[in-house]
Amino acid sequence: MDKSAKIYVAGHRGMVGSAIVRRLKSAGYSNILTRTHADLDLTQQSRVTEFLTTERPDYVFLAAAKVGGIHANNVYRAEFLYQNLMIEANVIHAAWQAGVARMLFLGSSCIYPRDCPQPIKEEYLLTGALEPTNEPYAIAKIAGVKLCESYNRQFGTRYMSVMPTNLYGIDDNYDLNNSHVLPALIRKAHEAKLRGDRSYEVWGSGRPMREFLYVDDMADACVFLMEQEGIEPSLFNVGTGEDITIRELAETVMDIVEFKGTIVFDTSKPDGTPRKLLNVDRLRSLGWSARTTLRDGLRATYADFLKGTDRACR
Ligand code: GDP
Repeated sequence: MDKSAKIYVAGHRGMVGSAIVRRLKSAGYSNILTRTHADLDLTQQSRVTEFLTTERPDYVFLAAAKVGGIHANNVYRAEFLYQNLMIEANVIHAAWQAGVARMLFLGSSCIYPRDCPQPIKEEYLLTGALEPTNEPYAIAKIAGVKLCESYNRQFGTRYMSVMPTNLYGIDDNYDLNNSHVLPALIRKAHEAKLRGDRSYEVWGSGRPMREFLYVDDMADACVFLMEQEGIEPSLFNVGTGEDITIRELAETVMDIVEFKGTIVFDTSKPDGTPRKLLNVDRLRSLGWSARTTLRDGLRATYADFLKGTDRACR
């Protein structure tokens, strides 16, 4: 990738998109193209076509999506399916029309069958039924992967897909209804500490296992992959290769936040997939692996959360 290449990052205000922009800038890329949601609604086909055929970027990172945790995915099912399908279909098709040769589409590890063997290899895609709580989102993301694959096969484009494990980090979403588990627990532990509570609430049984990747590591993997011009454009899992139980996560968060209480499990809330550890051999074989430990990532994320709360208090 030439340092002056025109690079469009779709979704640059989101946690992943903003980390990709940070990473590109720090690597010296100077021609980064972005549009806010207000300027360009990616669910509107004609607007997307006009934008991409006018701008004609060399590379596209497709990090725009409607995302959320287990509750949001389960409740806003129509919105998750419709909006993600529209964004992907519009951007991928218009990118091809505009002659974009290389693209990186951000998928998710929830595209894999609920009960597939662990750690999950890329080839397990479409070998079994999906987890019901996030099936609409997963179906949309599978469609995105298949769009990339099909445009490559029919039209010779080089569009890759990355499947990140659960991401967290700078600029995360702390809305308790919509967020993922890690930011939710940071906020809950922090607020419990401020109130002087004896315990804090964790959804489900605490037994599901999850793998957590710091978003700056994710961005690093995305830029790394885009820079490997010669590789076969396929699917790449991105993770750390290690997972922990939700109970262990809840304890580690308490430690980082310095909340000295106990955990109460609310078993009326769903557990979701029992385990989703990614096999990351494919990416590792190219020479990339994650660098940030969970404790270091949590410390940085908690510091960023505190900045946010200060902003809200002013
Ligand atoms: P998932 O990885 O797609 O299932 O999404 P989440 O990150 O939302 O949830 C992961 C696991 O954490 C599930 O087993 C949840 O029940 C559990 N969990 C525990 N407490 C919370 C919480 O406060 N918020 C969320 N979103 N999940 C929680």
